Order: sequence, then C-alpha cells, then structure tokens
Amino acid sequence: MPAVTADTLTLPRLHEPTPAADGTAPRSRRVRSLTTAPEGFEGEGFPVRRAFAGVPVADLDPFLHLDQMGAVDYGPFEPRGTDWHPHRGFETVTYLLDGAFVHQDSHGGGGTIGEGATQWMTAGRGVLHIETPPEDLVVRGGLFHGIQLWVNLPARSKMIEPAYQNLEADRVTLVSSADGGTLIRLIAGDLDGHQGPGRTHTPIALAHATLAPGARLDLPWDQASNALVYALEGNGTVGEDRVGIRTGQLAVLADGDHLTIAAGERRPLDVLLLGGRPLREPVAAYGPFVMNTRDELLEAFEDFQKGRLGVVPADGIRPHRGRS
Ligand code: MN
Repeated sequence: MPAVTADTLTLPRLHEPTPAADGTAPRSRRVRSLTTAPEGFEGEGFPVRRAFAGVPVADLDPFLHLDQMGAVDYGPFEPRGTDWHPHRGFETVTYLLDGAFVHQDSHGGGGTIGEGATQWMTAGRGVLHIETPPEDLVVRGGLFHGIQLWVNLPARSKMIEPAYQNLEADRVTLVSSADGGTLIRLIAGDLDGHQGPGRTHTPIALAHATLAPGARLDLPWDQASNALVYALEGNGTVGEDRVGIRTGQLAVLADGDHLTIAAGERRPLDVLLLGGRPLREPVAAYGPFVMNTRDELLEAFEDFQKGRLGVVPADGIRPHRGRS
C-alpha cells in the first residue's frame, strides 16, 4: 500500500505545535462528524468507497467528491475504467497507490501513472477524458488502489483554459512527523512551510500520511482551512477527543490550529489529509458538471451536446474490455 516509502529519519521534520505569540495554547481540532463510506461500483464495475456520502457540502467546501478505488486484486480481464466523458467547472485529482492508470483528455493532456503518482486535471471550461487501466494490467490482472478527488474551482476560474499536471511519484514532497513515526507525502499545498508540487486554484493541502503502529501525529494545520481525515487503511483515533476511526471512515474536524491522529498498536494507519479555504459560493452540480447556477448547468449540457467541450481525438484510446 505505501505508494512512496522513505526512511523518516532522513527527512525534514514538522514542528510540534507551540503556543501562539500571545501565549495562547495550541488548539487541536475536535471531531465534528465521523461517517462511514458506502461501498459501490463505478461505471463499468470497479469497487469504490464514496468517502463524502452523507456529509454536508458546507463541511467539505472546496472539496466536492472523494472516491477510494479498491484496493482490489483483479483477475485477468477484470480491471475496468471509464469511457470518454465530459467535465466542466472543477478539477479531478487522481492519486495512485497500487497498479497503474491511463488518462487522456481532449485538450492534449494525459499519460500513464504508476504507484505514488498523481494526475491533476483542471477541467475549467470543459474537456472530455477517459480514465482506464493500461492494457497490460487488464490482461494480467493485479492489485489496483487509488483515490479520485474533485476540487471545486472558484466562480472566477470555472471557465479557464483546461490544464493538466502529471505529478510523478519522485516529485512528491516527503516530510516526517516531529517524532519520526509518521511519513507524510505532500501532494499539493503548504504544510508547516513545506510545499507540495501540485498547483492549485484555491488554497488547499492534500497529503497521504502513514503512521507506524502506535504512532501519534500532531500536525500543524492552516486555521482558515477546513480539515478532513479519511482512513485509507488501518485504524486508530483522530481529533483532540480521540474518536475511533477505521478503513473507509471520514472525520470532519472543527476549528483549531493542528490535527491529532494516532495509529492503533497492531498495524500502520494510512490516512488522506485534506484541507482547503472554503469558497462559500453557490454550488449547482449535476453529473460531470459543477457550476454556480442552474442556468450555467444547462449551458454546460448544451455546450457538451454541441461538441464545445471537445471531441474524442482521432488517436483517442479506448477502454480495454475483453479478450477480443
Ligand atoms: Mn472523469
């Protein structure tokens, strides 16, 4: 499962939370809600956990949607992806833990990512894209595990030019907790002065942390951002109030200046850490489009039908479906 590993003893370390300049004690965030992701099947049939199901959108803002895909150990010809489909008004972020994934879009972006890499697609005014396992994974089968996150764009940026960032595994920023017990892979944003490689349109932080069995992580966190902790695998506790969390559960944390997470004694705890400054703008979402008003949604559908979101390239890849 650990996508990128490193000896934490060799890495830069995060600071322990310290009192503010006026002497105010550091304030660890408490848990506002804990939810369990329902499990289902996406599109052609890969297993997903819908991490944000049942959580008020205001608590998630600026994040919209989070799927954990797998982990699944596919047999030959079982891996499935999506066919070509459109998006407008937000960004899709795909982070891969095990296996490989191919992406291609109508704006010229795309490529294959492997373990530890991230594809960051800014749909902006519109793209068509396809997300599918590569042919050799389809043929052989094998382990597949990843996440896809949807990040909203502010109203002023919804119709920007589409963009694509391929963030290879060796570009992720690695840092350690103050006690060396946790490896943090910072994909985007700022964490205690460290910067992730992903360029974002609204201030967010996205990281994958692995806590060693029994480790406790005290993580400085932007006070103006929300804080979401999703357990990818393992169990432990989260928040000042030490609420139990296990695989497939999401904790939304209340205000404060740092996060406290602890792993259970028996095995590591892998968590996804998400924080963003809320946009506080109206959200009109339907299927693959996320806009601010219903009229903008109707316009998105019309533009898609008229081919204004792009067309499938002549050399566009196709999903690998079977033995034929
Ligand atoms: Mn998509």
